[in-house]
Amino acid sequence: MDKKIICIQCPIGCTVNVEYDGDNIISITGNRCKKGEAYAKKEFVCSYRVLTSTVFCKTTKGIFPLPVKTDGEIPLEMLREAVKEIRKTVYTAPINAGDVVYENILNTGVNVIATKSMPYDFKVRNL
Ligand code: SF4
Repeated sequence: MDKKIICIQCPIGCTVNVEYDGDNIISITGNRCKKGEAYAKKEFVCSYRVLTSTVFCKTTKGIFPLPVKTDGEIPLEMLREAVKEIRKTVYTAPINAGDVVYENILNTGVNVIATKSMPYDFKVRNL
């Protein structure tokens, strides 16, 4: 049996073919480098992704979306649940870019961090 995996480790995007027999990998072809082989092995077992999303953050001027991301990869199948979990809370400013806003999301050992600073008096500027 074969499974085709698009390597996303660089912009080339090689189509990597994983030939397997039951649960065991027989061969990996189509990758141009070792990174692709490692990525395909990992993806074959379980897909992982960095979560990027937004949460709500309260400032003295209102509630605004705050962009966040995980500081590591989590299983792909957990992304939806993780987004639901982080959005149960309205976070409170001030928050600095890089601050952990949610620790150990879904017991993965991965934290969710702010990717933008949100000062306590943040407001949307008039255009
Ligand atoms: S296999 Fe190597 S060259 Fe191909 S997409 Fe992955 S990282 Fe890039």
